[in-house]
Amino acid sequence: MIELRDIDVVFNNGDRVVSAVKDVSLSIEKGEIYGIVGYSGAGKSTLVRTINLLQRPTTGSVTVNGSALMDLAPRDLRQARKKIGMIFQHFNLMESRTIFENVAYPLKGSGLNRKEISQKIAELLDLVGLKEKTDAYPSQLSGGQKQRVAIARALANDPDVLLCDEATSALDPKTTSSILKLLKELNQKLNLTIVIITHEMAVVKDLCDRVAVMSNGRVIEEGTILNIFTNP
Ligand code: ADP
Ligand code: ADP
Repeated sequence: MIELRDIDVVFNNGDRVVSAVKDVSLSIEKGEIYGIVGYSGAGKSTLVRTINLLQRPTTGSVTVNGSALMDLAPRDLRQARKKIGMIFQHFNLMESRTIFENVAYPLKGSGLNRKEISQKIAELLDLVGLKEKTDAYPSQLSGGQKQRVAIARALANDPDVLLCDEATSALDPKTTSSILKLLKELNQKLNLTIVIITHEMAVVKDLCDRVAVMSNGRVIEEGTILNIFTNP
């Protein structure tokens, strides 16, 4: 489903050059929940952002669902990106818009009519357990509810892949568990491939089929949870 080959990302800020990702190759299977762990600054966020080309690699190739993203024309890339949802630590909702409008945002230009959009949003909010909040504003929701809205928005275009950048880091342990449970359900119900950056052991243990451990821009270990945490 996701093939990263020989990825390097170099940031060049005037006189300071940072090699954020160094020579990373990974294959992630359809339906897999894949964790990326490692200390702050290890390059996790930069690597995950290459999967939807939010960050263009300096060198290397990114293939998602059979498309070599770096080779696509802008229009085809826009289409391909719709099939890759993403959620963030701080939810990134539009505060002046209702939940309905937030979730509807990625459906602009989808060709669906008003009625179809309403129906789609009802389905999405039902899926994340927030049907009754359609007309609320983000400020009226808890952190966990905001992340559910962000998940609904990320799923609006029926993506194959969901990228999660520290999606539970701003949440308390109980809310974290409920979001993880939801992600697991979505993974099973929709056969959704999930890539999740985390520094929380609970996330890795309860959720991930495999993990990559990053350090200083490189993947230093990769495997099942059992492999990684039982080997010396
Ligand atoms: P992590 O997600 O593991 O905390 P990041 O991918 O955010 O790590 O960062 C990896 C390295 O790249 C860090 O040294 C960070 O400062 C640097 N970095 C990340 N984004 C940028 C950017 N847009 N410009 C310059 N340097 C960046
Ligand atoms: P986090 O640790 O939650 O990833 P950061 O503060 O590291 O958050 O990064 C926030 C944003 O700033 C990210 O989009 C990242 O790419 C960018 N960034 C991080 N480090 C640098 C840097 N040294 N120079 C420019 N942008 C950076």
